[in-house]
Amino acid sequence: MTSAASQITDLPQERRLVTAIPGPLSTALHGRRTAAVSAGIASTLPVYTAKAGGGVIVDIDGNSLIDLASGIAVTSVGNSAPLVVAAVSEQVANFTHTCFMVTPYESYVAVAEKLNALTPGSHEKRSALFNSGSEAVENAVKIARTFTRRQAVVVFDHAYHGRTSLTMALTAKAMPYKKGFGPFPGEIYRVPMSYPFRDNGISGKEAAARAISMMDKQIGGSEIAAVIIEPIQGEGGFIAPADGFLPAISEYCTANGIVFVADEVQSGFCRTGDWFASDHEGVVPDLVTTAKGIAGGLPVSAVTGRAEIMDSVHGSGLGGTYGGNPLACAAALAAIETMETLDLNAAARRIEALAKPRLTALAESTGRIGDVRGRGGMLAMEFTVAGSLEPDAAAAAAVAKACHAQGVVVLTCGTYGNVIRLLPPLVIGEALLSEGLDILEEAVRTVQV
Ligand SMILES: *Cc1c(COP(=O)(O)O)cnc(C)c1O
Repeated sequence: MTSAASQITDLPQERRLVTAIPGPLSTALHGRRTAAVSAGIASTLPVYTAKAGGGVIVDIDGNSLIDLASGIAVTSVGNSAPLVVAAVSEQVANFTHTCFMVTPYESYVAVAEKLNALTPGSHEKRSALFNSGSEAVENAVKIARTFTRRQAVVVFDHAYHGRTSLTMALTAKAMPYKKGFGPFPGEIYRVPMSYPFRDNGISGKEAAARAISMMDKQIGGSEIAAVIIEPIQGEGGFIAPADGFLPAISEYCTANGIVFVADEVQSGFCRTGDWFASDHEGVVPDLVTTAKGIAGGLPVSAVTGRAEIMDSVHGSGLGGTYGGNPLACAAALAAIETMETLDLNAAARRIEALAKPRLTALAESTGRIGDVRGRGGMLAMEFTVAGSLEPDAAAAAAVAKACHAQGVVVLTCGTYGNVIRLLPPLVIGEALLSEGLDILEEAVRTVQV
């Protein structure tokens, strides 16, 4: 939502439909894909991308779609953001890989320094870089277990932490993430989240007491290595816990020598209007996991946290061939510089100021939406049968489908599949965002289930 267009993209920032969605070229390519790509990998909207930038995705049929998804909260700085393109181009010409564990390079160190400075808390920190959000969460568990010499890991209802063997076990939802993929690793315990819309008015403190009591009774605080929580849950439905919940959980961790891990893979890097969602909650995690928004789309992730915890691991205990690849590090430094120069925290807050009142008014006027929530550029509507808490997944799916047909990319999420989430690139222009919301509103008003 900045006028400095040349710092964002040269692509026209417009919705333009020249064929049905998906168009004939996308449909043909989808046939090829089905014969070549595993059916286990699905796509929300099978229009095939040709170019993308700012708030638009241009497909191979020449349609220009409004992007309210950012490839799942990744391209916060926009697609092919100019600084990212320049930094990666320069790096790719210099060297593409040495492996940081063989002969290291400066950009990895610089990314670690940036992460140490930007993550919550002024204590001494260290970082380690990996490739995906799942890998970061896995490594946070390894680090917490080594440091504490304990094994138990506590996660929450509605949690999403990834799809690898360990992280799918940390993830709550069976379908599609876990079904048929067991057995799962042990020493993982799940406790209730604070979910204000479905919590019958209990406070954040009371919800924390409920979770803490379960930890105490069923595991014992002295046995727990780590408590892992998304400060605003992502795939689980953009659930923001009630005030006081996270501080109480964090205090319990400190009192019991438990490593408090904030999984900021989706909520980090200006997405919620702060560098990290934990900032808003006033909690200082022991470890923070990051990925998605960090590098404008190049794959890199990180664990950042207290030096004594991060340094407790023996040499060569952490790592990986590609972790902190030089192209990804160049992209991360350029993406973070873009966030700073364009002030994307302010941009995220402007998105909230523009979109949230419209979504709230829509909820009131249609009766189809039980709850509007989220912060910054991480906003959601939970669809329910009017006047009840009963999830209405069919309505969410139908609204998403209607938006797609009109060239607006939105995503659903939630344990009950009844949430539409908005994750626009934080650089999206105000006019384009408003047009996307017009179409979304029209769909909510008119779509029949
Ligand atoms: C997406 C996500 C992950 C997993 O990240 P991948 O890069 O897909 O492995 C972990 N935690 C949260 C909160 C996420 O949103």
